[in-house]
Amino acid sequence: MPRRRDLDLDALDAAVTAMVVAKRAVALTGAGMSVESGIPDFRSPGGLWRTYPPERYATLSAFRRDADAVWEMLRAMGAVLEAAEPNAGHHALAALERHGHLERVITQNIDGLHRRAGTKDPIEVHGSSQGLHCVACAYRDRDASPPPQGVPRCPRCGGPLKPPVVLFEEGLRPGVMEEAWRLAQRCDLMLVIGTSLAVYPVASLPDAAAQAGATLMEINLEPGHLRHHGAIELAGGVGEVLPLLAKRVLEGC
Ligand code: NAD
Repeated sequence: MPRRRDLDLDALDAAVTAMVVAKRAVALTGAGMSVESGIPDFRSPGGLWRTYPPERYATLSAFRRDADAVWEMLRAMGAVLEAAEPNAGHHALAALERHGHLERVITQNIDGLHRRAGTKDPIEVHGSSQGLHCVACAYRDRDASPPPQGVPRCPRCGGPLKPPVVLFEEGLRPGVMEEAWRLAQRCDLMLVIGTSLAVYPVASLPDAAAQAGATLMEINLEPGHLRHHGAIELAGGVGEVLPLLAKRVLEGC
């Protein structure tokens, strides 16, 4: 469970007002969004990178060199993701979108939990763990499941398949970042949720939004990443803060 910290009620009031007046709010989410769903962030103790160092298991060159080893990591990751369910924070964001208070969700997460909570068409900047694709010929099957063992092979070119998650050294899917930039530059409010903003180019999206005049709001156990932009800071776990925010916004005050 997240560490309990008293929520700043003045900041909550400011956040509610910002959401009620916003016409084009977008949310940008990171690994902290899904920690309460049982998916630890990959870097902390117990996280995936402690057992599977990313330079050996999560790069495109590692996949080309030794797809069997990378699939060992992918299956370990798949087991964690499969056991996870959307948390109250995912559901609150989906409700805000359903009621017209949120235009779009941009996520760095690959776990599919926004979709499962009912968010329509989230922009999954780093791809998704669902389906299989071929890095050699770009073949893609969104519904395919990997076999329990071994490296699945592309039916078109015979190359090794992997889930459409973006590995280190691998380019983002064409058009995805362009759409995220477009949303950042035209939004009037950006909610930045559960991300340390350490991974580029996604980490620049709040700067683009601020430069275009948007209000920024940060929801994080340890906020402060956007203080230089004067962001409204809500310190707390997503499962506590987002339902509170959504309830107040949907009640219209
Ligand atoms: P990060 O691990 O760098 O930062 C996580 C942030 O979330 C931290 O600032 C932390 O304070 C905050 N946080 C943790 N628990 C929280 C909670 N309950 N409520 C609110 N905030 C909380 O994550 P990142 O910035 O997203 O970068 C990691 C990269 O790894 C991303 O690119 C992402 O693709 C990938 N990743 C994805 C998943 C997933 O799909 N669920 C999980 C781990 C990592």
